[in-house]
Amino acid sequence: MSVAGLPLHPFFTPRDLPETLDLLAGRAARGEKTVLLAGGTDWFVERHVAPPETAGTLPLVVDVSRLDGLGGISLDGHTLDGDEPGGDTLHADTLRIGGAVTYLELRRDARVAARCPLLAAMARDVGALQIQARGTLAGNLASGSPAADGVSALAALDATLLLRSVRGARRVPLAGFYTGYRKSVLAPDELIEAVEIALPPAGAPYVWRKVGTRQAQAISKVALAGVAVVEDGRCTRLGLGMASVAPTVAFLPATRALGLSRPLAGIAPGEIEATVLADVSPIDDIRSTAAYRRHVAVALVTGFCEELKRR
Ligand SMILES: Cc1cc2nc3c(=O)[nH]c(=O)nc-3n(C[C@H](O)[C@H](O)[C@H](O)COP(=O)(O)OP(=O)(O)OC[C@H]3O[C@@H](n4cnc5c(N)ncnc54)[C@H](O)[C@@H]3O)c2cc1C
Repeated sequence: MSVAGLPLHPFFTPRDLPETLDLLAGRAARGEKTVLLAGGTDWFVERHVAPPETAGTLPLVVDVSRLDGLGGISLDGHTLDGDEPGGDTLHADTLRIGGAVTYLELRRDARVAARCPLLAAMARDVGALQIQARGTLAGNLASGSPAADGVSALAALDATLLLRSVRGARRVPLAGFYTGYRKSVLAPDELIEAVEIALPPAGAPYVWRKVGTRQAQAISKVALAGVAVVEDGRCTRLGLGMASVAPTVAFLPATRALGLSRPLAGIAPGEIEATVLADVSPIDDIRSTAAYRRHVAVALVTGFCEELKRR
């Protein structure tokens, strides 16, 4: 019991990844809830707004923030075995980011800055330095907020998630990860081990625009992440991820298809507006209105498209 008379969460720090996975498997089999504590920047806020729990209902809090198996950033240049699930979608120059890597680590990594500037730009915009020093990509992904900055950037990069349990590893394209508002295919005995990104060529144009109330500590009203490869006036690769316009981060599939369909010069602003509006379903909430979000969504994508036309 705490001094306030509240029951304390049971807490455990596993030695390594195998011990964590064994623990998750046993608890999942018994139907017991486990919280993986990475940076704690989502979970502590969640706890703050939730009603006090009673002793019998408290989940076990497992510290995964320092697990070796979830750390590290590597740029491999390898091609994955096509037989692995999702493996055939990855190419040379694969950036692998451990699930427990923080935004600050992303900001500081020279390879990320040079080869994936979209991720570096996103990481600079998350909360303030204190949040960046603790918050992780896996926490952002697992929380599944439709406003998640990290998820938006990873959506534009068409990232693949490496999920692991005692049953083995599986690769899930981010586009297939969410099943609804804050719901995903992550099983109770699984964790997010890493994120893998088949990098676009160095110098590929990208956009990161976060529209919010103020520069720091604001959740977006709308945010756009985008990356493209443009050859002879047409997109040969186009990834888009948009925050706060749908129950999950939006991939804008119709807009992507339009951008890839023909030379950029032949795509009229009216067509972009129509496809963006077909791709988003924003709501009125405490941060903005659906109408403003629709307006900003169209403006952000149109601006990126104009920039690509000048390439
Ligand atoms: C002041 C403030 C400002 C913020 N600003 C932003 C912002 O600008 N943009 C933004 O996107 N977010 C923002 N956030 C939200 C938060 O910081 C991010 O979502 C962050 O990435 C969460 O990561 P974490 O490591 O702290 O997650 P935690 O709180 O540790 O965990 C969150 C959830 O993820 C699960 N989890 C953690 N690691 C794993 C794993 N490896 N595998 C499976 N599940 C896992 C946990 O079980 C838990 O359910 C802000 C939060 C605060 C408090």
